[in-house]
Amino acid sequence: MATAGYTDTRLFIDGEWCDAKSGETINVVSPATGEVIGKVARAGTADLERAVAASKQGFATWRKLTAIERANTMRKAAGIIRERADSIARLMTQEQGKPLAEARIEVNSAADIIEWFADEGRRVYGRIVPPRNVNAQQIVVKEPVGPVAAFTPWNFPVNQVVRKLCASLATGCSFIVKAPEETPASPAELIRAFADAGVPKGVVQLVYGDPPQISQFLIAHPEIRKVTFTGSTAVGKQLAALAGTHMKRATMELGGHAPVIVAEDADVELAVKASGAAKFRNAGQVCISPTRFLVHNSVKQDFIAALVKHAESLKVGDGLADGTTLGPLANARRITAMNSVIENARKTGATIATGGERIGTAGNFFAPTVITDVSLEADVFNNEPFGPVAAVRGFDSIEEAIAEANRLPYGLAGYAFTRSFKNVHLLTNQLEVGMLWINQPATPWPEMPFGGVKDSGYGSEGGPEALEPYLVSKSVTVMAV
Ligand code: NAD
Repeated sequence: MATAGYTDTRLFIDGEWCDAKSGETINVVSPATGEVIGKVARAGTADLERAVAASKQGFATWRKLTAIERANTMRKAAGIIRERADSIARLMTQEQGKPLAEARIEVNSAADIIEWFADEGRRVYGRIVPPRNVNAQQIVVKEPVGPVAAFTPWNFPVNQVVRKLCASLATGCSFIVKAPEETPASPAELIRAFADAGVPKGVVQLVYGDPPQISQFLIAHPEIRKVTFTGSTAVGKQLAALAGTHMKRATMELGGHAPVIVAEDADVELAVKASGAAKFRNAGQVCISPTRFLVHNSVKQDFIAALVKHAESLKVGDGLADGTTLGPLANARRITAMNSVIENARKTGATIATGGERIGTAGNFFAPTVITDVSLEADVFNNEPFGPVAAVRGFDSIEEAIAEANRLPYGLAGYAFTRSFKNVHLLTNQLEVGMLWINQPATPWPEMPFGGVKDSGYGSEGGPEALEPYLVSKSVTVMAV
C-alpha cells in the first residue's frame, strides 16, 4: 500500500493497467525520508513478450492514422497533462526529490514538448526527385521505423520519456518504455494522459523491472526496430553495442561535463545568476548541468564570492515544503558519489569554499558546494559529478579555456559568458559540444536540437532532427507503361 498522497504503479500493456504476471514488485523509497512510500510492478519475460506483441499490433493501427489524427490525440494528451500538472508534480517530488516548483515546470514543459512534436509530425515530408527518364517518377516516401524500445532515467522522470514518446508517436511508431523504477509514478501519469486522450491500445506500453534484463530482451527482439536510451555513458556504450549486434537504430543521450567559460569581459553578475541557478537545479542531477567553471583569472575572485553567496542562499529541504529551493538527491548512491568527489578534491589540493557535506542522516540531503583551486587531476574535473557541486578553475586566455573544455571525452552542453564577438566566434567554432548557450542559462526548447557529441552520445531529441531516426526512407521509382 502506498503512503498517503503517493500511488503504487502498475504496468501498462495493450491498453490495460496490470500487475506483473509473477506479482513481483519493487519498493519505491522517498529521497527526503529514506522510507518506502510505495511500490512498482516488476515485469518479467512473460510481460515483456506481451508488451512486444501489443506494440506490433499497435504499430499496425497507429501507422495507418493520418498525421493530423495522430497530432490531435497528442494535443489532447498535452491538455490533460496541463489539467493534472499539480498532482503529477506532487508525485514527482515525492519520488524524485526536486522542489515542487521545479516538478511543475517539468510537467508543464512536457505538455509544450508534446504539442511541438504533434505539429512537427505533420511536417514529415517525402520528396519527388527529377528522374533520368521522362517516363519515370522518382519518389522518396518517409515511413515509421516500427516499434521503439526506450530506456529512461530517474532525474527527469517525465521529460526523459516525453521526447522519446513524442518522436515515436508523431512519426507513426509504437512505443515501449522501461521507465525508472526509482521514480515510477510520475511517468505513469504521462502514459495515463495518452491513454485517456484515446491513444489506441498497443500503441504505448510502460514497463519496469530489472534494467539489464529488459534491455537485453527488448533490444534483441526482432519486432523492435529502434532503441533510444538516456543515462550514463557507461551503460549507453553497452546498449549501443547491443543495438549494433542486432542491427537496431539507436539514439544515445548520455552523460556530460559541461564547461562554463566566464571570459575577462563577461557580465559576472549575469554569469553567476544564470549558471548558479542552473548548477543547483534538480540538485545538479542534470546531464546538461554546468560543472566545470572556467573563469578568467581577472574576474575569478568576484565570481567565486558571488557563486558562494548564491549557494549559501539556497534553502535545502523536502521538495514539498514551502520555500525549498534545493531538494534531496534522488537516491543514496548520489550521497556516496558526492562524498567521494569531495574527499578526492581535498586530497588533490582543492579548497571547499562552501558546503562539502551531507546534511542530517535521514534522506539524501547534501549541501550546495563550491570547490575552488581544483586541479585537472581531481575527480570532479574528469567525471560527471551529477550532484550539487560547482568546481572552479582560473584561466588566462580564451584558447586555454577552450582547450580545457575540449579535454574530456564528453561533449554535451557548454556555456559561455562574454561580451566580445571575437570570443563568441571562437567558442561557437571550437567548442566540442552538442549544445552551446552564451550569456544565458540553458533553454532546451523542443524546436532546437538536443544531444551530444563524442562520449555524450549520438542522435538528437529536439528539432526536426529528432524525428529523422524514427523514420525510414523508401525510394520508389515508377515507369509509365
Ligand atoms: P546507472 O549508470 O547504472 O544507471 C543510469 C540509468 O540507466 C538508470 O536509469 C538505470 O535504470 C539505467 N540502466 C542501467 N543499466 C541499464 C541496462 N543494462 N539497460 C537499460 N537501462 C539501464 O547508475 P545511476 O546510479 O542510476 O546513475 C549514475 C550515473 O548515471 C550518473 O552519475 C549520471 O552520470 C548518469 N545519469 C545520466 C542521466 C542523463 O540525463 N544523461 C540521467 C541519470 C543518470
